[in-house]
Order: sequence, then structure tokens, then C-alpha cells
Amino acid sequence: MDAPLMIVGASMAGLRTAEGARRAGYAGPIEFLGAEAHAPYNRPPLSKELLQTEGHGHAEVAFPIRSALEEGVSWVLGRAAVSLDAVRRVVVDDAGDEHPYSALVIATGLRPKGLPIDDHGLGGIHVLRTLDDAVALRDVLRPGANVVILGSGFVGCEIAATAAKNGATVSIVTQSRVPLERALGPLLGAEMRRRHEEHGVRFFTGESLFGLVGDPSVERVILTSGVMLECDVLIVAVGSDPNTEWLEGSGLDVSNGVLVDGGLRAVGADGTVHPEIFAVGDVARYANPLFDDVPRRVEHWNLPTETGKRAGQLIAAQLAGDDCEPLAAAGFAPLPSFWSDQYDAHLLAFGMTYLADRSELVAGRVDDECVVEYFRGEELVGVCGIGMRSAVQAYRTRFVLPAQAGPPA
Ligand SMILES: Cc1cc2nc3c(=O)[nH]c(=O)nc-3n(C[C@H](O)[C@H](O)[C@H](O)COP(=O)(O)OP(=O)(O)OC[C@H]3O[C@@H](n4cnc5c(N)ncnc54)[C@H](O)[C@@H]3O)c2cc1C
Repeated sequence: MDAPLMIVGASMAGLRTAEGARRAGYAGPIEFLGAEAHAPYNRPPLSKELLQTEGHGHAEVAFPIRSALEEGVSWVLGRAAVSLDAVRRVVVDDAGDEHPYSALVIATGLRPKGLPIDDHGLGGIHVLRTLDDAVALRDVLRPGANVVILGSGFVGCEIAATAAKNGATVSIVTQSRVPLERALGPLLGAEMRRRHEEHGVRFFTGESLFGLVGDPSVERVILTSGVMLECDVLIVAVGSDPNTEWLEGSGLDVSNGVLVDGGLRAVGADGTVHPEIFAVGDVARYANPLFDDVPRRVEHWNLPTETGKRAGQLIAAQLAGDDCEPLAAAGFAPLPSFWSDQYDAHLLAFGMTYLADRSELVAGRVDDECVVEYFRGEELVGVCGIGMRSAVQAYRTRFVLPAQAGPPA
């Protein structure tokens, strides 16, 4: 029997790739190898509904497995890949088992960065990436709990909103000037701070952690300015690192994610393309010609689907023995999109707002519903709205490849 299409990382991007390969005509065996014990599930509810709804678990967030994946698919869950031999075309898992492949998909996503200081083995310190993390956190986000969140990105702010709604006393400690500064810029960032403060969240900006006090669990945190905060629950939400350690020594370029070409095919450290190895979702680093030629990792929910669809097409062609070059050369230019729900603010964005050097309010009022445009020089690189969904959606057609753009007005 042919070696399977091997997908390492049994989550959204891996699942979408398998679906994409089936849709493009690949009918052979598929094997998933996933470090988590759970079948693929959706992560956005982990910081929102699931975090505040007692009893919700995998069933409420599981992705449906489509009929095309009911046959010929094996799931090896609760086992992590530990190495890749790209010459023998074999992945080795943490039980020492070898998994040969005909094509390999790297879909191992990210994991939260740890505390910037030694935790001395104290309890009460949490991160949020997995379902198990969310269930553990939900159990301690009780009314009246003193919750300190380190980091003011989306995950930190969404947890803050959920915890504040649950009646916890919430403090956000951040090195930034305003929350969500990188993604939303100063205007919307300041507005989100105002909305959080309206719900009782306290901000300690330009700050980091200096020390922890407690035994056996954290009881207080000391900030770099010397401020001391009561703390029953410390949540570390200071960004993520790509899960690529298992690829060390494989010859692939894994500096800040897996470098891939426009066909999502892995690029070696020597610049050669590996036609049978693909990377998708949060772990992949690629250039997006809608913006420029700089390869980046982009951590938004629509990209596991976009990258999975595209990789699936190429995998099906590759395994059918077709010439993939014309397909790969066609370029890959997905429009990144993210959303976030905090209190009654529904944020929706398109593009790469974090490339902007300035932002401009173009509709509505910041303290109500609004649309903000983001520019790099004169180039529109992103848009974000609070509410006003249809106005924001209308921007989708504004992001086009330079060759498709009309003459300047
Ligand atoms: C709490 C939270 C809330 C979010 N909310 C939003 C939102 O509101 N809007 C939005 O746009 N985006 C949101 N996102 C981002 C979005 O969920 C991610 O972009 C998406 O989950 C990425 O999917 P992925 O499959 O690439 O990676 P992941 O979902 O990270 O999946 C990777 C999988 O690979 C497994 N794995 C890792 N290493 C190995 C190994 N060595 N061997 C085998 N398996 C391995 C992991 O255990 C994991 O199951 C949120 C993310 C989180 C964590």
C-alpha cells in the first residue's frame, strides 16, 4: 500500500488541508498525528463562550468531520512528532514509532510563550491555547478572584473581558501604551482600554513582571515599577512561538515558523523547495503579494482554511504525478481577516493592520460603532471596524494584487 498523506497537527489547518486534498481528487490514505488527545476543534470560543459556560467542552467546539474524511483516514492522537527524516520520508513520534509518508503536512501551530521570569514552580499560573487550558482556567475565574493578565493582545483582552463579566477583579499588565497596540494602533487601542476600564479592568502600562510572591500558589505579583498586585490567578498572554522543535535537523528553514513558497511547499535552509512537504496555518511563514514579498507568519482564523485549501490542491496534484509548477507559480494572496468579541464590541478586520504607520477614522464614532482605515505610507493595508460589519465587509474588494489594480484616480 502507498504511504499515506501524513498530517502532523490534528487541528484546524490540518483538517482543512485533508478536506482540500480530498476535494482536489486525492483518494488515498491520510494519517493524522496530533499531540492533543482531542479531535480537531475550534479555538476562538476558548477565550469567549467556553471560558464562561460551565459544562461546555469538546462537543461544543469540535469541528464536524466531513463524509469525505470518514474513509481511509487514521487518527493517532495524544502523540507528538519528535523528528523528521526528510530523506527517508519518515516522521518519528514520542513513542518511538515511525510514520512513513508520501506527502507531509506540517500543521503544528503555536504554543504560548512562558513567563519572562522564573515561576519557581508556583501554582495559579495559566496560559490559554488548548481546550484543556481553557477548562483549567474556567475553574479558577471565579467571582471575586484577583486575576492578573500579563499581555494585552487579543487573547489577554478577551480573557479580561470574560473574567470581568464573571465578576473577577482584573488587572492587565502590559509593556504597550494601549492594549492591542500592534493590531489596532493607538486610536482603537485607546478606545478598547476605555471599554475595559468601564467594566472595571485596571491597566498597568509600560510595565512587566519583576517578581512573584506566594507558596505553593501565586498570591501577589510585583511589577517592574515596584507596584504590588494581589493575585490568585496569573495568566501569561505575551504571544506565541511556532511548534517547530521537532523539525530541527530536518534541513527545513524553521527560523520563526516553517518557510514555504507560494505553493505552501517547505523551503530548505539551502533555499531548495521540498515538493512533498507542506506547511499550513499559524506555523507557516510565507510572503503575501497583496502586501509585499516579506515572508510572515499570520495568526488569524481564516488562514488555516485558505492555506489548507491551497496546500490540498497541490498535494493532490503532486501525489497524482502531475506537474505542480504552474499551480505553485499562480501565487498565493489570501486576504487575512480577524475578529474579536469583547463585551458588546464586535471587532472585524481585513488586511494587515499591523503593517500600518497610521490609522484614520473614516466612519462612525470610536466610542460607538466605527470604521478605521490603516495605511503604510499612502497604501491601504488594513481596515477594522467596531460593529458596522457590512461597511467593513465592503473593503474586501479593495485589497488587490498590484497587477489587478486600476490606474491611480
Ligand atoms: C484562545 C484563542 C482564541 C482565538 N480567537 C480568535 C478570534 O477570535 N479570531 C481569530 O481570527 N482568530 C482567533 N484565534 C486564532 C486561531 O484560532 C488560530 O489562527 C488557529 O487555531 C490556527 O490553527 P492551526 O491549525 O494552524 O494551529 P493550532 O490550532 O495551534 O493547531 C496545531 C495543532 O498541532 C498540535 N501539535 C503541535 N506540535 C505537535 C507535534 N510535534 N506533533 C503533533 N502535533 C503537534 C497542537 O497540539 C495543535 O493541536 C484564537 C486562538 C486562540 C488560541
